[in-house]
Amino acid sequence: MPDKLEKYLSKRNFDRSKEPKGGSKKKSLRPIFVVQKHNARNLHYDFRLEIDGVLASWAVLKGPSLNPSDKRLAMPTEDHPLEYAEFEGTIPEDEYGGGQVIVWDAGEYRRLKEESMEKMLGSGKIEIELMGEKLKGGFTLIRMSGRDQWLLIKMKDEQASEEDILNNRPESVLSGKKVEDFE
Ligand code: MN
Repeated sequence: MPDKLEKYLSKRNFDRSKEPKGGSKKKSLRPIFVVQKHNARNLHYDFRLEIDGVLASWAVLKGPSLNPSDKRLAMPTEDHPLEYAEFEGTIPEDEYGGGQVIVWDAGEYRRLKEESMEKMLGSGKIEIELMGEKLKGGFTLIRMSGRDQWLLIKMKDEQASEEDILNNRPESVLSGKKVEDFE
């Protein structure tokens, strides 16, 4: 198990939460991304990118947007195991992150720059193309200078639009369920 998951593991009680413990080998050829809608104390969307064997993660408070003029605040959170990309259900209320989780969008992604994802992550500017069901096309994740806060911004391309994708497509791409469907 990679050390990267230490923080993830230390925050959770796996006797109580059905969240994955991690440790399995990777299956897909191309790297994946997932966006999980998480109805915790504050509703947010967890944006996760497969980088170096784990899911690098950000909590996007207002959720992703297809509109390039929206700059969505993305707070970095602990790396999650790859298996987390398929997790949905209810985390018990008194546990870390208690609340309902659905897989709001998922798919593969590709880099739009020569440099490695590790390098982009380190330099604070990630440029990728998402191939999800709802999120498609170029996206930039950029770290604000001097802060541990990032912005998630849609690039201006053919997939950019003003559609309110969060409200128009609230359902899970895995099960079709909405967060409200879980107790
Ligand atoms: Mn979350």
